[in-house]
Amino acid sequence: MQERVFNFSAGPATLPEEVLKIAAGEMLNYKGCGMSVMELSHRSPEFTDIIQSAQSLLRKLMDIPENYKVLFLQGGASLQFLMAPLNLFNSDKKADYVNTGAWSKKAIAEVKKLGDVKVIADSSDKTFSYVPEIKPQSIRKDASFLHITSNNTIYGTRISSLPETSIPIVSDMSSMILSEKIKVEDYGLIYAGAQKNIGPSGVAVVIVRDDLIGHNLDIPSILDYSLIAKSESMFNTPPTYGIYIAKLVFEYLFDRGGVEAMQSINERKAKMIYEAIDQSNVFEAHVKTKEDRSLMNIPFFAESDEINQRFLKEAEEKGLKTLKGHRTVGGMRASIYNAMPEKGCEILADHISNFRP
Ligand code: PMP
Repeated sequence: MQERVFNFSAGPATLPEEVLKIAAGEMLNYKGCGMSVMELSHRSPEFTDIIQSAQSLLRKLMDIPENYKVLFLQGGASLQFLMAPLNLFNSDKKADYVNTGAWSKKAIAEVKKLGDVKVIADSSDKTFSYVPEIKPQSIRKDASFLHITSNNTIYGTRISSLPETSIPIVSDMSSMILSEKIKVEDYGLIYAGAQKNIGPSGVAVVIVRDDLIGHNLDIPSILDYSLIAKSESMFNTPPTYGIYIAKLVFEYLFDRGGVEAMQSINERKAKMIYEAIDQSNVFEAHVKTKEDRSLMNIPFFAESDEINQRFLKEAEEKGLKTLKGHRTVGGMRASIYNAMPEKGCEILADHISNFRP
């Protein structure tokens, strides 16, 4: 059987081996109940314990204040592109957006069907290779919220400072949640698809300030945060197995010192790779401005596609997989989420430094 490889996929992405081993050990008989977690009723005491633990671990890991609800949902991050506006819109239905890449564009396309949207900052002029300035004075005073994408998975930028504003900030943190310390109080709503830093696809996490929800009564029930919150994410059958893996990942993070510890490891990992790219004569990073660089996704490329292809082929031979860049950017992309071991980044940095075209 082939050894496990270093999987640099942008998502679904690598998971901690320790977590997979626990899940494998519990696959047939979860804690003596004689069945797999997949076969447990979502109303059973065993699953109730799993979802409650997942919630309380996430609260501790992210220091989530009491007045925020934590929800586990289906539908991925993409459903939040419309669920967030449906729930947060006030009667004017206005929302301001920052456009930093493909996922922001998709979020904007959805909200346009629902209300009045203003794009107040945009980096499309340079293929989203930088973070545009977000001027507080551009935010409309009557906007229901300001939407940002904290980490731009495809183009590899990261928003590291927020504008001073009293308008609630909604952030898509799909590709950076739990990778660095953030202050939840700075946001009205945070959402993330699980398949990068949390667990398998099929789960989305929503963290929302409770005064922002429950005022729109015309939302279909399944899309209404307040009903989902009231039922403790059990409005209908939640993605039970994904929530179980998320709980194991949260325990794993907790045992390793939590988000702060992950952040320093992530900074080290990213530094290794960016330094190798910056010092190389063959490769360049898509994002040149150092402050704007993502800690999680690093797109880079050589001058010709032929060189990129050979780099990828030789990387595969060293057990470095799924490094091919997104089809819209080309080249390579190293996604180095929490579960990517430092060793994988070291081998990749060496491969970049030693590669000869
Ligand atoms: N937002 C961001 C930043 C993403 O990276 C992705 C997925 N790669 C999405 C949204 C969409 O997530 P999903 O496929 O879970 O809907």
